[in-house]
Amino acid sequence: MIIDVHRHLVAKDTVQGAYIKGASLSFSMMYRKAHNLDISPRDFVEKVVRPLLDPQADKVIEEMDAAGVDMTAIFPVDYGLIFGEAPMHIFDQNKLYAETAKRHQGRLMAFMAIDPRRKGALKHCEQAYHEWGMKGFKLHAGVGYMPDDPVCNWVYEKANEWNIPVMCHTGGAPSVGLHWENSRPAYFATAASRYPGVDFIFAHAGDLAWWQEAMQAAVWLPNVYLDLSLWQKPFKKMPPERFYQWLRHMIDMVGPDKLLFATDAPYPNLFCPLKDWVKVFESPKAEVKFTEEELKLILGGAARKVLKL
Ligand SMILES: [Zn+2]
Repeated sequence: MIIDVHRHLVAKDTVQGAYIKGASLSFSMMYRKAHNLDISPRDFVEKVVRPLLDPQADKVIEEMDAAGVDMTAIFPVDYGLIFGEAPMHIFDQNKLYAETAKRHQGRLMAFMAIDPRRKGALKHCEQAYHEWGMKGFKLHAGVGYMPDDPVCNWVYEKANEWNIPVMCHTGGAPSVGLHWENSRPAYFATAASRYPGVDFIFAHAGDLAWWQEAMQAAVWLPNVYLDLSLWQKPFKKMPPERFYQWLRHMIDMVGPDKLLFATDAPYPNLFCPLKDWVKVFESPKAEVKFTEEELKLILGGAARKVLKL
């Protein structure tokens, strides 16, 4: 079973103008470099992002089918308190995700994205969990709270009570003015150590600078898992052998039962198609050796346990 634990939908009105402006700067730069062509941030939004609009995820399912991905976890991001509310309120975005997951039951599952400081957040999440069947939390502390601040405790307590994972953004961010420091794995590690009954997924495994910090957390804390989304970019930039040496190191340190295949689609899929990213783990072309068992765990075996499938 192949599971992508980290994906977003491209849906109208789910991000606010300033975010689109800033994010298009970062993502168009990456796109220009990856494809060696000249495209402005505006054209990137119009010509590359707009055609990806797919709020009901029918195209997502086609992409998963073509790549052999059985299940994908989807969630929005709650940026509202830092950038101003998106035209579609985050509560409605969560509902859209829940409905889309229901439409493709057995292929998609949805997590609720929430800023723990929001008014009415607990009530909303109770409804999202009990009535809409949402199966995890998604936190992005870069919007202005610290992961180990008591303001987050109710999220961890509910995750514990409901036996669902907490997906946390760890790593960098596009040029939109997010608080980088808040997304350091160490802060989420402190939270994870206080809630040993809750599975924490460190998205992007700490990213380019903090993967060692994320690795350290996963080595110490039984409830910390690392998702490998966003690593398509370094994979594309470095000789494959070097990437596989890094992967070997991660497996040796934290174990393959704590590494989760993931994309952070849609953007990374523009640089490395889903099909190719699956192949990277399905049939590594490298001197470095992996066992079939290790690769199976990374591609879905480990996620199955964390997502309670
Ligand atoms: Zn993401």
